[in-house]
Amino acid sequence: MTDQHASKAPRHWGVITVFVLTALISVTLVPWYGFSEGYSGWAWVFAVLFLYLNGIGIGSGYHRLWSHRAYKAHWSLRLFLAVWGAQALQNSILVWSARHRMHHRHVDDNDQDPYSIGRGFWYAHIGWMLRNYPAGAVNMDLVKDLQRDPIAAWQHRWYWPLTLFMNAGVPLLLGWAVGDLWGVFLLAGVLRLFVNHHFTFFINSLAHMWGRQPYSDEHTAKDNWFISILTYGEGYHNFHHTFQNDYRNGVRWWQFDLNKWFISLCSMAGLASELKRVPHFKILRARLAMEFKRANRRLQVEKDHNWRDHLEREYAQFMDTVKQWQALQMEKVSVGKQRLLQRWERVDFRTRLKSLEYLLKMQHKRVAHLALLVKLPKTL
Ligand SMILES: [Zn+2]
Ligand SMILES: [Zn+2]
Repeated sequence: MTDQHASKAPRHWGVITVFVLTALISVTLVPWYGFSEGYSGWAWVFAVLFLYLNGIGIGSGYHRLWSHRAYKAHWSLRLFLAVWGAQALQNSILVWSARHRMHHRHVDDNDQDPYSIGRGFWYAHIGWMLRNYPAGAVNMDLVKDLQRDPIAAWQHRWYWPLTLFMNAGVPLLLGWAVGDLWGVFLLAGVLRLFVNHHFTFFINSLAHMWGRQPYSDEHTAKDNWFISILTYGEGYHNFHHTFQNDYRNGVRWWQFDLNKWFISLCSMAGLASELKRVPHFKILRARLAMEFKRANRRLQVEKDHNWRDHLEREYAQFMDTVKQWQALQMEKVSVGKQRLLQRWERVDFRTRLKSLEYLLKMQHKRVAHLALLVKLPKTL
């Protein structure tokens, strides 16, 4: 345990009060009101709607747009994301992004990652917010680019009145309008906030604990479809920490990623542009490199020479494919610099790229199969 952890930092009483109150009301008053008075359909509709709007405000806005600049957004979309993100009560865009950039820069470093999983589930989930830990200090120098965004700056300036209005004012006004004042306030105000808080916090806790590591094991982030459903699509966290500027977290088309779909829709509507995607080849390369790493680890224990020779041949082929891909990139850049590429040239480059990607895909299957054939305990 580090010094800063041993000598307990001062408590954040305001934060503690909000977490305790919303949790207590959610497990006492909310069910009691439901049994004694009953909730209107409107209360449920607003609760679910706000829950997902908060998820999108944080995921598509705070996280992918502002923290990672994974795409560009029209001012109307930024305003929408800033307002619904404020309702999630997770501090302003600037504060959230400054800490999140620290999280990526120093992931798993107990002294610098604001919510390092190295300090355990409770700390990464919620504990880091309850006390004034040095690792949680906000370095505004990390978000200078965001301070120039008038909407992020406006949201930061008016954050507390805005979040109060969105959390209490909006549910009360809507509740009054539909004739279920307390029902809407309790479900769409309090319970929704409690649920959204913990769903989002799972990204810092469970998504660094449970799941697979298909792209890298140099950080604790994991891919987990179940956590992704809870976290609006942020559960493909191993991919995200490996390729943080990609606008997608669930990179395969079938992986549940609400924010990826929302951003794509906005792009179709002309509200989002310059969506960043990591080249497919790089994703396949990372996946295969991980597979080699795993197979190697197994063989170190097994010491089977036949398998080892086999794996070495596969690895030599892998390096060759990567070299060919690098050469293709260079060629594309140098030809592209001289003149605009002709249509047939573009097709030619694309075909060669596709065939290299295919080589990696097939090799991934072979190496994964090979790793399975070397039967060893799963703990490796
Ligand atoms: Zn993370
Ligand atoms: Zn991130």
